[in-house]
Order: sequence, then structure tokens, then C-alpha cells
Amino acid sequence: MNFVIAAPAVSSLAIHASDARFPVHRIYCIGQNYALHAKEMGSPVDREQPVFFCKPADAIVTGDADVAYPPATQDLHHEVEMIVALAAGGRDIAVERALDAVFGYGVGLDLTRRDLQALAKKAGRPWDTAKAFDHSAPVSALRRASEIGHPRHARLHLTVNDELRQDTDIAEMASGVAEIIHHLSGLFELKPGDLIFTGTPAGVAALQRGDRFRAELENIATLQGRIV
Ligand code: MN
Repeated sequence: MNFVIAAPAVSSLAIHASDARFPVHRIYCIGQNYALHAKEMGSPVDREQPVFFCKPADAIVTGDADVAYPPATQDLHHEVEMIVALAAGGRDIAVERALDAVFGYGVGLDLTRRDLQALAKKAGRPWDTAKAFDHSAPVSALRRASEIGHPRHARLHLTVNDELRQDTDIAEMASGVAEIIHHLSGLFELKPGDLIFTGTPAGVAALQRGDRFRAELENIATLQGRIV
């Protein structure tokens, strides 16, 4: 192809026990998917019409790399989340068939400029500057569903400087993985390579330069890094 400038690189994730990589197409995120987190944010869970937003594919940070503290915020927050990677896509995917589209699972942080999100909410403006900034999506290596199946229960937790900040079981999600895929595929045509951030439990809080974080989805994936 004769592009007029160099074509952008493909963002990709490592796969557990493999040299192959998972190419990232889009990143979809669901908001307020755990009741206790929705409560701490002051809004109820809406299972009929979940909150969705996106991050750019090149916002991912891989390989447990350091994360630079982003500009334009005084209140960078962590949100630990289970990550779902899709091997197939489509529109209007039925709940009963939705898990067939899943390639695998991982763990990630939906980093959030909480001060910008609060301003956006107050002004009725979009969340992009709060959620879709550079390096806002550290993600672990993926585990294949063909290897581990589709987890119904798994502890999801985050420590910062060895202090427990967020701790739940993914069984506490208001919308499960199949329901999220069903909802999203009614709004967007899903594609192989899409990632889904499945929402964060209670305990979101600020990160500072120098903090070391460690996120774990029990028996599936771990992610660690430093804010610099
Ligand atoms: Mn989130």
C-alpha cells in the first residue's frame, strides 16, 4: 500500500505461554457494572441501558511497563477490571451465543482523570478527556478461553504499594460478559480484536507518581507497573 505517511503500528497484547500476539482493534468499556462502585460514584446500576465508552486502541500499555502520570489532571484514579478479548464479532449477538466470540481473558486498569470526568458529568459533556487519554489502559497478557474456559467466579483485586485497594469477585458484575457482548453488539458491529473492559468494583482512588500497582484476576492474569 502506498500510504502518504507511515501507517500507524498495530497495538497488540501478549498471550500467556505463546509467542503469538493479539492485535487490538477497538477498546470498549462499560461503566457502573458493580453495585458498590456505582454507589460510591453516586449513580445506580442500569442493567437495561448500561453506560458504555471507548478508549483508542493505542492507549494500551503492555509488558508491565511504567505508566507516565498523564497531563491535565490532579486526580488520576485506578479502576481494576477484567478484560475480555474477542476472536469473532458481529451485530445483535444473542446472549446464549455471546461467549462463542471470546478469545480470552486478562486484567487491566481503566485509568481515569477523575477531576476531568467530574467536570464533564457536571457540564453534560463527553467523557473522552477523562477516559481516552494516552497510556490510559495498562493490560496484562491474555489467557485463552480454549485453555481456561469462561470464568464465572474469580477474585479480582488491586494493590497499590502492597496496600489492598480494590477486591471483589467477578460474579458481582451486574451485567455478565455474555450480556455485555449482547448489549454492545446492538450498538456497534463488534470485530475480532476488540477488547472489553468489564467495569470496576468499589474502592477507586488516586494514584501518585512513584506508586507501584499490582492487579490480579485469580488464576488467569496479573499486571504490575509503576506510575512515573
Ligand atoms: Mn471503568
